[in-house]
Amino acid sequence: MTISVLGVPYDATSSFLRGPAAAPEAIRRTLHSGSANWFTELGDEVDPANGSWVDAGDLDLPDSPEFAFVKIRERAAALHADGPVIALGGDHFVTYPLVAAAAQHHDDLTILHVDAHPDLYDELDGQRLNHATPFARIMEEGLARRLVQFGIRTATTHQRDQTERFGVEVHTAAEWDGGLPDVSGNVYVTIDVDGLDPAFAPGVSHHEPGGLTTRDVLGLIHQLARREHVRIVGADIVEINPERDIHDMTAMLGAKLLRELLGAAGRRR
Ligand code: MN
Ligand code: MN
Repeated sequence: MTISVLGVPYDATSSFLRGPAAAPEAIRRTLHSGSANWFTELGDEVDPANGSWVDAGDLDLPDSPEFAFVKIRERAAALHADGPVIALGGDHFVTYPLVAAAAQHHDDLTILHVDAHPDLYDELDGQRLNHATPFARIMEEGLARRLVQFGIRTATTHQRDQTERFGVEVHTAAEWDGGLPDVSGNVYVTIDVDGLDPAFAPGVSHHEPGGLTTRDVLGLIHQLARREHVRIVGADIVEINPERDIHDMTAMLGAKLLRELLGAAGRRR
């Protein structure tokens, strides 16, 4: 059983700015910079030298979302045969093929989704495959049993309707108390880094004030790691835009979230 880390350098469906395709390289560079050690806050060692995970490299992806979907899903599905897959995006479109791959191997997925945005549009700018639509596609296709969102603060009337239609459980940035709801079974964690406040994560395309703290998101991961009857089968960290970053602060945040997710996923495989 091995955890794979897969780079998904894709940002062709970003609606506002491109840039997240450069994030896998930036996260890896800070991860291996020597600035931090390989222990998680809960005490798990995630040094790749001890074989706790393998870097599966970066995908080579075309701009076409239809073709990119197939390449991402097929590669991730192959890696799922070995164990959990943690992907580095990329814009949030990539979560749709990544969850499709996880669903080929795991029933009854619960998705825990950190984001400023619900990403539930039926379509945006005429596109059904877009970084603002992945969870509409995922829920329509029944790829997950539950979708639980944290940090939401931009829902439109249409997206509130979609929330109701799909039975999405929403913990808004204004209301969330930092607790992990009752969750068990197979869990997929997707962290859109713009769910954090821009003060904590300046290197994103969409600065949406009023967001979560770094500690809020780490707390979510740690509660998952400690909870019995939870198995993290997949995760992704998306929407980091290195072109907007300051001194690699957000890339380093991505590296820290990756280490903590590796530790959590390695506890109950
Ligand atoms: Mn998103
Ligand atoms: Mn977002």
